[in-house]
Amino acid sequence: MFNIFGNNQSSNNGRNNGNQNTPNQPREDVLIELKGIQKEYKTDAGPFLALKGIDLKIKSGEFVGVIGKSGSGKSTMINMITGIDRPTAGEVWVNGTPIHKFSENQMAKWRGTNMGVVFQFFQLLPTLTVIENVMLPMDFGNKYNPRERREKALDILALMDVDSQADKLPTMISGGQQQRVAIARALANDPPIVVADEPTGNLDSKTAAQVFELFQKLVEQGKTFLMVTHDDDLAGQLSRVITITDGQLDHEDHRPVQKIVPHSQNGSKPESESEEAQLEEVS
Ligand code: ADP
Ligand code: MG
Repeated sequence: MFNIFGNNQSSNNGRNNGNQNTPNQPREDVLIELKGIQKEYKTDAGPFLALKGIDLKIKSGEFVGVIGKSGSGKSTMINMITGIDRPTAGEVWVNGTPIHKFSENQMAKWRGTNMGVVFQFFQLLPTLTVIENVMLPMDFGNKYNPRERREKALDILALMDVDSQADKLPTMISGGQQQRVAIARALANDPPIVVADEPTGNLDSKTAAQVFELFQKLVEQGKTFLMVTHDDDLAGQLSRVITITDGQLDHEDHRPVQKIVPHSQNGSKPESESEEAQLEEVS
């Protein structure tokens, strides 16, 4: 079976649970660094400073949560890291690369293989089928040759438990399924980093817990994960949570990692168990 994590240098066979204190897995390498990031938006009322000097370091293998009130600057900060938007001042380094210096073309190419991005409203292309949505980044990534792309995409969809929906249009499947497809698309070129902006904001709590559990599995498999969330239950399960207030990092919470307890509201076997089985199969 296609091993989506096979080429990931930071893969650690699923033993790192994101806790930086895990004694046998010291992971001190800084993967993402923001230095003095400012972002000014031009508005009708004049310039508005949405980020007021953000300094942040994220190590390889971390699962970091970002919380803060609506309008505090979470998305703006996330967009600096994905390169979707540019800082007015400051530097963004990812894996030793100063991405704030990239041209648009360089940025798009770089992002395609280095970073998976997941959005609140999925952002699947409505005229493409599920599998075509997942294959699209492969066309830009050049990681897989055209003949193997369909099979790879199907394998990733299977990992997300939505392979049976492969030939449907996004509007034909549920929100939870659409987000799984969007995650599959984010993983298309096996990026070491995944960034998600309120990925569960449009899902019911049970589906949100399942999606979050999937994220935790990806972190265990070696991905570095940054997730904006409004969900206190989910944030409470992360070892590192940073709070943004009015465009500034407010405070950080570090907690021991707690393993997520799958929601099993109807007493049946939680879907997450089968996901776990699938993910372990490829590790
Ligand atoms: P959050 O994601 O925490 O809700 P955002 O990062 O989206 O917050 O927005 C931070 C602030 O910047 C808000 O006051 C918002 O109105 C403003 N803002 C965001 N995008 C723009 C834009 N393109 N132009 C002008 N102001 C913006
Ligand atoms: Mg936002």
